[in-house]
Amino acid sequence: MKVKFYGTRGSIPVTEPEYQAFGGNTACVAVYYDGGIGIFDAGTGIRNLGKDLFERKTENYENIFLAFSHFHWDHIQGFPFFLPAYDSDRLLNITAIGITRNYFDLKSILENQMREEFFPIPLETMGAKLRYLQDESELKIDQGVKIISTNHYHPGGATSYRVEAEGKSVVYTTDIEHGEGIDNRVVEIAQDADLLIHEAQYTPEELKHKKGWGHSSWEQAIKVAELANVKQLIITHHDPDHNDEFLFNIERICQEHFPNVKLAKDNMEIEL
Ligand SMILES: [Zn+2]
Ligand SMILES: [Zn+2]
Repeated sequence: MKVKFYGTRGSIPVTEPEYQAFGGNTACVAVYYDGGIGIFDAGTGIRNLGKDLFERKTENYENIFLAFSHFHWDHIQGFPFFLPAYDSDRLLNITAIGITRNYFDLKSILENQMREEFFPIPLETMGAKLRYLQDESELKIDQGVKIISTNHYHPGGATSYRVEAEGKSVVYTTDIEHGEGIDNRVVEIAQDADLLIHEAQYTPEELKHKKGWGHSSWEQAIKVAELANVKQLIITHHDPDHNDEFLFNIERICQEHFPNVKLAKDNMEIEL
């Protein structure tokens, strides 16, 4: 199993030179396993993932799924630039499992951001067949791949995912506000995972002034990793005002507190 980070920035893309070591694309992570690919979020990073996948004409796209943690801009804004969605030979499974029915339906969310007021090409003329999987709380995909989810707190709601394939497990938790304690739903879904991907938009000090903004600190990400006994932690969704120097410093501090932790960078790959 291979995990590749295509977008690791939170909130909005950044392009200035002092941000290039970590990268400026918004949220997108791909999990490659035998016979399929799981994609988490469609921030601007999904554009480069799309270019990677578009070249692989032989890939079985029945086994690709795109799962949304939620639908804030930094998690959907890359979708109109995702090349495989323009390929009429493709079928894409699009899911937001665990998000309740009283949420907007998935298709209309993607349709709305591609209305002509916002984008020149409407969703229905992109080309690929889009299959929406919305109401399950667990998906079983071919090749023994299992995906489970749990909701966590974020303004408007958000979902954590766990993918199990090839005997390995990866958990993706972003845009989560733990509040005073640690959200136990996330600890449960991350239990004994080989890799936990957890956001940390803020330092513990910054978090004190950002109550209600929907995010975590690196200290909370490490706490979840410890409580859940995960083997490896990758911290992502970096604040757009945190430059490379700042993030390298945070990474050093994190490594003093947890044995196997890194901050995600755009294009970073992890083999499991
Ligand atoms: Zn976000
Ligand atoms: Zn958000």
